[in-house]
Amino acid sequence: MARIAVGGFQHETNTFAPQRATWADFERADAWPGFVRGSGLIDAVDGFNIPIAGAVKTLQELGHELVPLCWCSAPPSSYVERDAYEKVAGAILDDLAAGGRLDGIYLDLHGAMVAEHHEDGEGELLRRVRALVGDRIPIVTSLDYHTNLTPEMVRLASAMVGYRTYPHIDMAATGSRAAQLLDRLLKDRRPLYKAYRQIDFLIPLVWQCTMAEPAKGIFALIDEIEQGSQRGAIPSGSHNQGIVSITHTPGFPPADIAQCGPALVVYGLDRDAAEAAADRIAGAIREREAGFAGKLYTPDEAVIEAMRIAERATRPVLLADIQDNPGAGGTSDTVGLLRALIAHRATGAVIGMIVDPEAADMATMAGEGALLDCGIGAKIGYAGETPVEAQWRIMRLGDGRFTGTGPMFGGAKFQIGPMALLTDEASGVSAVLAAKRIQAVDQEMFRHVGVEPAEVPILALKSTVHFRAHFQPIAEAVLCVNSPGAHVSDPTELPYRHLRPGIRLRPMGPARS
Ligand SMILES: [Zn+2]
Repeated sequence: MARIAVGGFQHETNTFAPQRATWADFERADAWPGFVRGSGLIDAVDGFNIPIAGAVKTLQELGHELVPLCWCSAPPSSYVERDAYEKVAGAILDDLAAGGRLDGIYLDLHGAMVAEHHEDGEGELLRRVRALVGDRIPIVTSLDYHTNLTPEMVRLASAMVGYRTYPHIDMAATGSRAAQLLDRLLKDRRPLYKAYRQIDFLIPLVWQCTMAEPAKGIFALIDEIEQGSQRGAIPSGSHNQGIVSITHTPGFPPADIAQCGPALVVYGLDRDAAEAAADRIAGAIREREAGFAGKLYTPDEAVIEAMRIAERATRPVLLADIQDNPGAGGTSDTVGLLRALIAHRATGAVIGMIVDPEAADMATMAGEGALLDCGIGAKIGYAGETPVEAQWRIMRLGDGRFTGTGPMFGGAKFQIGPMALLTDEASGVSAVLAAKRIQAVDQEMFRHVGVEPAEVPILALKSTVHFRAHFQPIAEAVLCVNSPGAHVSDPTELPYRHLRPGIRLRPMGPARS
């Protein structure tokens, strides 16, 4: 039995987004728990599909004693404010210092955090932890798929284990894999060789989905190399022998930092085997570069095409509002797609979530059946938009407290209210309002205000890829729409200043000079 400290600090930073992450954003619960510290952590994370929940469960099953630090996350946004970063990092460092003799550390990190004063948020945190505990203690972290994996992170952590799915349906499972690897390091007492590669082109989120090629095939190859090695199925002398763990992170493009972009790390017992596997995977990604592409619709094109398909379909046509994804720093209140639905009179169409706390409060005060006395959306004012004025009838209200049922957020206890379902009486288009920024990833968000997603002809979702886990199985078709939003899909449109020279801004795209 070992004494293992467990904690986490998660933020995905879109440095181009309009809102920064404050301490209050980390403190409060949304779909995941709010800031928790000390003995309450274990119960607070139990049952959530998040890495620390899987790690805690596995470490306990393996018989280890846990020393809880703190855990928190904030919705993706621009820079983490200095004060918030220092409060959380300070709590982790203080609790490690007070934790007594430790044998290992597990940290649940996102991997794409940029603080106001440190562009590599995780690298800086790991640097401080290493400075405190020294090199003797293994530190293993889990990582999001959208990690910008920096050389410092790889150097400072004993090992890192990333998600393999986007939509992320393996978050708790990844925490469990990280826990197993930490357990192995404690037993073997043998350091792992690390082979690290960076890929020299950014991949837009919309083409990173593992339900489709090329990402699907790349992760199948990674599974094959790792499992082949672990089963001993690879003949001795083969380059795949001795591979312990592989993490490939396709990256989070809207982060203006030097080490932005896809990367991978292979951990192995044997240097040559790890280097060869890293070369093989990096080669597979580079060979498939042109495949990271697909069709994007303008809002008008998308609504016209969706109405054409919906005429003969019995299942919903999904419109993914990929740039206003609050899960990537979007405000979830832009209205380009909503305006197109109304202009084309897409009767029966529903869009969600329009995050507008002011309108949600006014709807709650006015009551079901009343007309709403204000426009909705565009309160942040991204891209110069203005709120949508219409004959908004308040159809249904909700307090925004419900439990998720989808593959990603099943068991998550949402607290995103007040919420309201509004229908424009002129066009028959409906909008679901929420008070807190949350990506449209779970069907319960609609059921909570009386909408059965499968029965809607056209369903517009503020999401880039995650919606696919719960919504694609009920859909007739999925159209990806380029409407205004702070998660700018094409990196060539972003005013980067800090990317490293030579990296190309998108697959097959121009090099950064
Ligand atoms: Zn992610």
